[in-house]
Amino acid sequence: MSRVSIIGAGYVGLVTGVCLAEKGHDVLCVEMDPSKLETIRSGRTPFHEAGLPELLQRHSGGRFTATASVDEAVHASDMTMIAVGTPFDGSAIDLSFVLRACDEVGSAIKGAGRYHVVVVKSTVVPGTTVGPVRERLEAASGLHAGKDFGLGANPEFLTEGRAVDDFLHPDRIVIGGIDERTLRVLAELYAGFAGVPVIRTNPSTAEMIKYASNSLLATMISFSNEIADLCSAVGGIDALDVMRGVHASAYLTVRDGAGGAVQAPIASFLEAGCGFGGSCLPKDVSALVAHGSARGLDMAMLRQVLAINRARPAHVIARLERGLRGLSGKHVAVLGLAFKPDTDDVRESPAFPIIRDLVDAGARVTAHDPIANPVAQRALDGVAIEYADALADAVRDVDAVVIVTRWKQFEALPALLKQRPNPPLVFDGRRMLDRGAVARYDGIGL
Ligand code: NAD
Repeated sequence: MSRVSIIGAGYVGLVTGVCLAEKGHDVLCVEMDPSKLETIRSGRTPFHEAGLPELLQRHSGGRFTATASVDEAVHASDMTMIAVGTPFDGSAIDLSFVLRACDEVGSAIKGAGRYHVVVVKSTVVPGTTVGPVRERLEAASGLHAGKDFGLGANPEFLTEGRAVDDFLHPDRIVIGGIDERTLRVLAELYAGFAGVPVIRTNPSTAEMIKYASNSLLATMISFSNEIADLCSAVGGIDALDVMRGVHASAYLTVRDGAGGAVQAPIASFLEAGCGFGGSCLPKDVSALVAHGSARGLDMAMLRQVLAINRARPAHVIARLERGLRGLSGKHVAVLGLAFKPDTDDVRESPAFPIIRDLVDAGARVTAHDPIANPVAQRALDGVAIEYADALADAVRDVDAVVIVTRWKQFEALPALLKQRPNPPLVFDGRRMLDRGAVARYDGIGL
């Protein structure tokens, strides 16, 4: 059993904290946002994540505690994980939250008077842990990494929407340490994850593994979108059929001896759509491109991955404009505001530029998401649109419906539109509906 403190109780910090408590560790989460802290302390979760409320309630006040004090948390633990945000500031990764946390943790370990391990869980560009993080911790503590305290990187691979399950059943655990002692402490923390491959390496390699993983996923998405647009431009080709043929490759579909076939989950990133969003892929690929360019390396391919992604909303708008013969005065329902299903995270959601462009073109917009309406409404403050709590209300009297997020609930759409005398155009931005299921259907890659 380890005693762990975690700085930052956001998606990663809170999920990590309650899941480590579930695994038998004692956890103290430090959160600087008073309202978030209050919510967590009262046993509620500040964001939607399946399974998290149950785990929080089970461990809150027991093996899991939340506090505002870094000192208190560090002194009551043997290891501190930094899980604060690392946004992209437009030209480089913004490490200000990480470095501020280092200052606080550094001055806390100074007074602790015993060996402590500091681990960066936030996604940071390669070289950060052994560079600026080490410098700030040493300056604030007056101690030496590797001698007086341990230092490592332990990137997180959980996916929002299934974060608890991902954390408790990871596909890999990546631990990077500056020395054997740090690696030993980290390995002990994850000892309860039997059978999971553990990659033991140095901190910079661990950091790079995270970026390479996210960049590969983003690349596959932009690749699929480019192919899909060519299918549409050529005509007579459905990108869905094309990808079905691509997926059948033995590289992507494993056949067992009994004639069964299992598609590699990565194939889901070979589906065309409205583009990637969220708090990770756009900012991480941007940060890596900037990191390369600061070192004189033009990351030409990843630059294009981002450029293709930025152009997705305009592609959706152009297709709607063509289908509706102009957008001015048209009523459009935008379905799906979260950047992906099963979360209420709207950060970098492709729905937002689509909504803004529709409003700019003079369309009337009704937006609907099964759970993200309130968060989206705050994020889109000042944008004049209507929100519908129910799917049926969102699609009432509209000229077009555009599906931006693949929520399972939207499968009910064909039944809702069935009896309409003037059926709306359905633009399926995720290709989730059967194309014959509605009277007027169009979609990405058609
Ligand atoms: P988040 O914004 O949801 O959470 C960060 C939290 O840290 C916030 O609640 C903030 O108030 C708190 N915080 C910041 N500085 C603090 C300090 N000094 N003391 C106490 N609290 C502090 O961010 P997130 O989505 O959890 O991401 C955290 C990191 O994990 C990022 O680097 C991100 O790239 C990475 N990551 C995120 C995901 C994901 O799906 N969200 C997945 C893998 C990795």
